[in-house]
Amino acid sequence: MPLEEIAKIARMTMSKLVFAAMMLPVFARGGVFQGESCQRCHTGIRDAAPRRRLSVPAKEDLHDVIVVGGGVAGLTAAYKLKDLDVLVLEKEDAAGGKVRRELWGHARYPVAAGYMSQVYLKDIADIFGALDIKGDVIPEPGNSLFSGPGKGIVDDPFGKGLEKLSEPDDVKAALKRLKADMDAMGKGGDVGQVPPVPAPEQMNEVQRALDKQSFWDYMDGKYGRRVAEFSDRYSKSLFGVEARKVSAWTGLVYFSADFGDGANITWDGGPGVISEKLAQALAGSVRLGALVTAVIPDETGVTVEYELRGKRARARAKSVVVAVPSFVAKRIVVGLPRWKKDALASTRYSAYAVAIVALDKSLYHQSFDLWSDSTTVFTDLEPLDWGRTPETGPGTPAQILEAFVPLGEDDGRHVFLKTPDEKIAAKVKAGLERIFPEAKSALHGIRVIRWGHAMPIDYPGYLSDKRPNVMKAVGRLSFAGVDTEMPCIEGAMVSGVRAASEARASASR
Ligand SMILES: Cc1cc2nc3c(=O)[nH]c(=O)nc-3n(C[C@H](O)[C@H](O)[C@H](O)COP(=O)(O)OP(=O)(O)OC[C@H]3O[C@@H](n4cnc5c(N)ncnc54)[C@H](O)[C@@H]3O)c2cc1C
Repeated sequence: MPLEEIAKIARMTMSKLVFAAMMLPVFARGGVFQGESCQRCHTGIRDAAPRRRLSVPAKEDLHDVIVVGGGVAGLTAAYKLKDLDVLVLEKEDAAGGKVRRELWGHARYPVAAGYMSQVYLKDIADIFGALDIKGDVIPEPGNSLFSGPGKGIVDDPFGKGLEKLSEPDDVKAALKRLKADMDAMGKGGDVGQVPPVPAPEQMNEVQRALDKQSFWDYMDGKYGRRVAEFSDRYSKSLFGVEARKVSAWTGLVYFSADFGDGANITWDGGPGVISEKLAQALAGSVRLGALVTAVIPDETGVTVEYELRGKRARARAKSVVVAVPSFVAKRIVVGLPRWKKDALASTRYSAYAVAIVALDKSLYHQSFDLWSDSTTVFTDLEPLDWGRTPETGPGTPAQILEAFVPLGEDDGRHVFLKTPDEKIAAKVKAGLERIFPEAKSALHGIRVIRWGHAMPIDYPGYLSDKRPNVMKAVGRLSFAGVDTEMPCIEGAMVSGVRAASEARASASR
């Protein structure tokens, strides 16, 4: 072996050892993260030998379609294929990925996603209708702004509350223009309601131009520095990274959904009910605890290798929907052409913590989303009982707030792995007490949920240049998940519907 190769392997081994040492303080506490079991993925996929062939063939487990990954994209794909013999393989002990609910006493809370825009797409509306998934329209005001100690909280800062903001007149005028533009955008126009993100040849000039520039540049150029600064906080909350790293197209679509005229919807404990109903409808077809380690296509079908409760297993299908994020897909799918590997490798992800803050007394009841100033570790707080009667019962907190703690990309992931839950919780507590001094005597507890690869980042140019190949089918493999759309529940579901129709076609061949 050439010396260079040996040095490269030694460097890789060293960096893995350093990484493992870094992880020790976190894992040594017996701390399996809430959120995603990254330890299992790191050892079972990232750090495993390229492909460990099964020594003994598993008993035949034949299906029409296998869906790899039981997030809301994979569940939607499987639901659309439920007339066939379909199997979903999900590594966690519950389906739904980032769209799930958990319990604190009798109160439900979301592990990540908290709400969605009103359903305007027929494919999704049909599923919601068939499964009787009815959301509650989030009452007004949807948003409030904390402007710093002593300055108070302003409700509906881009609408009725605008005059109460302690901002100069030119900033207020810019905010007024922004609000009018967002209302207009919510009604359609050139930017359009996306997802589904149009194919490159169907994108109009406005969409293409917006996708090529950053959200920061657009907001700074059109509305000025103060508005751009708020977009930055917004972008960190929504996408986990600064506005400079996000395409103006994506930023504006989300901004208009949150601050424009249209209403958003949620459920008791968040949209996890969508995954629960989809999983129920697929009963028997979802295999939980199944970590897929290899997807191997050939001329006549696809073999999928996975680990189930410590045992290795294998299943086969005529076609496969790969509904895991691209950074996982690129490691588990065998024999992909170069263009597809490059596309999957072009995705980038933010790291993110969600802090679930339980309180012994109700602290905040003014709006669905309270935006903080830039001094707190979280960007915003959502009271989960906003607009509904809080749950009561033994062990149930008087109120639960969901706090969003964005951490950026690789650097953030690095910090994340070294920081114990207690440290993150302490920072959240300090921020909470800054906004609400009375929180000192009201805190019941904080649960930290980590997402190392929370969301794909729609960086400038991603949607128009990279995404088309990320989503493109390869032989009997189709690709679903938000890397192929915009990172939201609608995006995940739309991708599942598309991938299901591709998989149906290849399963019939
Ligand atoms: C903190 C946070 C807040 C958010 N808030 C909102 C919101 O309010 N509204 C909104 O619309 N969107 C929100 N989103 C975005 C939205 O929740 C996600 O983009 C969407 O749910 C992703 O769905 P998915 O199915 O593509 O991916 P995932 O949810 O990531 O699903 C992928 C699934 O694949 C499984 N998997 C991965 N690897 C393997 C393997 N090797 N073998 C087997 N299974 C595997 C995972 O366990 C997971 O269940 C939020 C996201 C985050 C992180």
